[in-house]
Amino acid sequence: MITFGTIGNIGGDDNQKKGKSINGEVDEKVKVLIIGSGPAGLTAAIYTSRAGLNPVVYEGMEPGGQLTTTTEVENFPGYPEGVTGPVLMEDIKTQAKRFGADIRWGSITEVDFSKRPFRAIVDNEKLIEADAVIIATGASAKYLGLESEQKFKGKGVSACATCDGFFYKEQDVAVVGGGDTACEDALYLSGLCNKVYMIVRKPYFRASKAMQNKVMNTPNIEVLFEHVTEEIYGDDDGVKGMKLIKQGNEEVNINVSGVFIAIGHHPNSEVFKQYIETDETGYIKTQPGNTKTNIPGIFACGDVQDPVYRQAISAAGSGCMAALDTERFLIEEE
Ligand code: NDP
Repeated sequence: MITFGTIGNIGGDDNQKKGKSINGEVDEKVKVLIIGSGPAGLTAAIYTSRAGLNPVVYEGMEPGGQLTTTTEVENFPGYPEGVTGPVLMEDIKTQAKRFGADIRWGSITEVDFSKRPFRAIVDNEKLIEADAVIIATGASAKYLGLESEQKFKGKGVSACATCDGFFYKEQDVAVVGGGDTACEDALYLSGLCNKVYMIVRKPYFRASKAMQNKVMNTPNIEVLFEHVTEEIYGDDDGVKGMKLIKQGNEEVNINVSGVFIAIGHHPNSEVFKQYIETDETGYIKTQPGNTKTNIPGIFACGDVQDPVYRQAISAAGSGCMAALDTERFLIEEE
């Protein structure tokens, strides 16, 4: 289980005020501020704490990052029998704390990266100054953008099969998407639910061959290729079904009580966009071969700067790189 160890830090400081201004009185000065607590942020915390840089980590909205919403992780080196996402993240966090990383509950709500020391506000309440910043804010689930999807969010519509699948035990559910996440979700749900529909908009999957094969060989998963979700409907008790459009014209209705959206993610870079260069989809641009952003002293690692690999191990690797880049930067500055 993930524990929110330092939740008591927020709101406990007399200097913290609601609606803190970025130009206001600084509440705390730190050497290295790490924003985000997935594999990238926590690996950066291990390296910077071992280097004596006393990093302060703000965990963000999803402590432990996306891996805390997965079940089995079989491809992270060092776990020959596999490990669950939450256990893996708790292990990395414990390792970072062992070297003194100060890991805190809270999200960065505003920044001023126009000059050093950089400024960041935590939860609109506390102003921090940092000599260097490591951005490791990851990516978040995308939704279809339907009004009906919004209406039933938390009442039948979810973007996390492993968090919410249990509530649909022995019922019929649907997974929207054709990538590895959608396949993984469908496979997970197939073990809990009576039947799982996969709604794939193209005539083929985007997922890896191995995942596709697993899905196609699971008897209680039915894949509906070339189907687009038009509406999710239900009543006060929750979702009852979906209206789909097959091949652009034919209406198809399916009875389901849960709809799991698994259509990809968007990088969590909004709060930095005034200062930090991103690509057209919002992924932070880093220099080839290192983690430097367009601002010296600000580094980015993990999924927020990686539209390609997006793996826990590649995120952890780039977290290590960001920590070493930060250490070198601070040595040169001194
Ligand atoms: P992907 O971007 O790979 O796939 C998204 C899927 O959702 C595609 O099938 C896409 O369709 C579909 N989609 C996107 N928008 C819509 C929409 N509006 N309506 C309907 N369908 C839509 O995202 P994933 O989250 O699946 O994977 C992200 C990365 O993480 C990948 O690199 C993947 O390999 C990796 N991953 C690896 C895992 C593992 O190794 N165990 C597990 C999970 C993810 P279309 O193809 O038509 O664009």
